[in-house]
Amino acid sequence: MSDGELTLGIDIGGTKIAGGLVDDAGTVLDCLRKETPGHAVAAVEEAIVGVVDELCDRASGSGYGPVVAVGIGAAGWVSTDRSTVLFSPHLAWRNTPLRAHLTQRVSLPVWVDNDANAAAWAEYRFGAARGHDTAACVTLGTGIGGAVISAGRLQRGAFGVAGEWGHTRVVPDGRRCVCGNRGCWEQYASGRALARVGQELIEVAPAAASALLTAVQGDGTRLTGADVTAAALAGDPAAIELVREVGTWLGEGMLTIAMVIDPSVIVVGGGVGALGELLLGPARQRFTAALPGRGYRPTPEIVEASLGADAGMIGAADLARNKLG
Ligand SMILES: [Zn+2]
Repeated sequence: MSDGELTLGIDIGGTKIAGGLVDDAGTVLDCLRKETPGHAVAAVEEAIVGVVDELCDRASGSGYGPVVAVGIGAAGWVSTDRSTVLFSPHLAWRNTPLRAHLTQRVSLPVWVDNDANAAAWAEYRFGAARGHDTAACVTLGTGIGGAVISAGRLQRGAFGVAGEWGHTRVVPDGRRCVCGNRGCWEQYASGRALARVGQELIEVAPAAASALLTAVQGDGTRLTGADVTAAALAGDPAAIELVREVGTWLGEGMLTIAMVIDPSVIVVGGGVGALGELLLGPARQRFTAALPGRGYRPTPEIVEASLGADAGMIGAADLARNKLG
């Protein structure tokens, strides 16, 4: 049983809130998951406070050491002073002073960070990027999030939006993106991209897409990236081919990361990252075949994240503990 000081990490996405009681070795001692209650600012804050209160009660009931701080990993762009959510594509936060709102209500120090930053910090401290003082993380969900570790610190940029490479442009005048631009990387290499290529296959070649059609009861418009992921993991050749296509685009975008950040490792996490080598194999192939100066420079490793869905809460908790990152 831990008697050291503990911190809470809260990972807030568009669909779920996950909270964890975490010790200084990154071990999750207790955790709690809830649906995100709609997207309104007040309702989400209420739910966060509920998760914090319940985990604190359970910690003291279990005899664990005191909870000394709360770290929030929020799906949005967070100011460099880690207090304000500037913008969230999936929630209603627009210049919302989340830290001030929550500090008042939970009676503990609160630190807010971007969810991908939190997950990357966890991978650096306790997971797949451990030992790599220059690392890039790519979080593949519906879109693409990301984070930069340099000199052993998270690099947030001047305005808090460093590492948002989902919106680097890979195809001029390409597919329309949620950010308002066209041709962003996440339109070609994310869960949404997997859904899109799957829907195209269903429309153009339904005979080749029979397993995908079965997964959505014949309604191709309902197909999600998760459906394609599940079919590929189950061995469906058509889904595996779609994953290969998206994986190749993943490798393409990583070339930009390599040339800007020069990391020794690129860690791929998020729900789509669970495809492992089915996705990373084609990504690595494209990446190594097209890396500028190939053959005359070290090639960064491309690896799967190792902390899975807990990375966000572990990283948020550790960032609150260290008050830096
Ligand atoms: Zn975009």
